[in-house]
Amino acid sequence: MKCALCGIASGAIPAPGPAPLARGPFLVHAKLEPGAHAGWLLVVPRRHVEQVAELTDEEARGLGPLLRETAAALRAETGAAKTYVACFAEVVPHLHFHVIARAGDAPEDARGPRAFLAAAPEPADEAARAALAARVLARLQPADSRFRPLLLSGLLWPGAGQVVAGRRRFGGALAIAAAVVCVLLIRALVAETLLRMPTDPVFFDDFGSIVALSQRLAAEIRPALAPYLWTLLGLWLAGCVEAAVRIVREPR
Ligand SMILES: [Zn+2]
Repeated sequence: MKCALCGIASGAIPAPGPAPLARGPFLVHAKLEPGAHAGWLLVVPRRHVEQVAELTDEEARGLGPLLRETAAALRAETGAAKTYVACFAEVVPHLHFHVIARAGDAPEDARGPRAFLAAAPEPADEAARAALAARVLARLQPADSRFRPLLLSGLLWPGAGQVVAGRRRFGGALAIAAAVVCVLLIRALVAETLLRMPTDPVFFDDFGSIVALSQRLAAEIRPALAPYLWTLLGLWLAGCVEAAVRIVREPR
């Protein structure tokens, strides 16, 4: 049986309205058909699952924040009095969560579960529905920077990007390991420097002597520090490569 939501996830079927927004293992896009409310989005796992109980730990962790962000973006864009979140996956068995904006003046027969039974307004204004979905997805866009983990792990601290992206076990291990190596590096630097520091004050008499001493110390100490520096480089690379692989594996 052909699954429409798998088709949208693979790109074989165009999504209604704007291109879906990818967020980790999920996509966010407009409802397939016009509904009783104009602001109506779907949060859909990329892979074909039919039950909430079948979600992986990673999917389960990502779901709550994504539903909250989608509801908040929808509410901010529409000024809705209520945002509904519902999941049945009966007509389309591929698991999907409806996120619906209910306006303050919505008719009684389109509120609560009746939203699923009420007819869409006639005539359907597909252009307006698509434009609204596009604005909501645009609001979600900044938080969905796929490059943020790479930038944070590459420029701030090894593992920082993974921690921010919710991959706390891997990111935390990298960050702690990098911190431990830094402490060991500083300790070795101080110990090696003190060991080689001349006690004769003549070395500190003029600027030229100090420069020469610094160069000699740097050359002598470098081999002792190299293992720590290589380890730090390895941790940094591990964070960058993991983040880069995620970008490639999770294309928009
Ligand atoms: Zn499917």
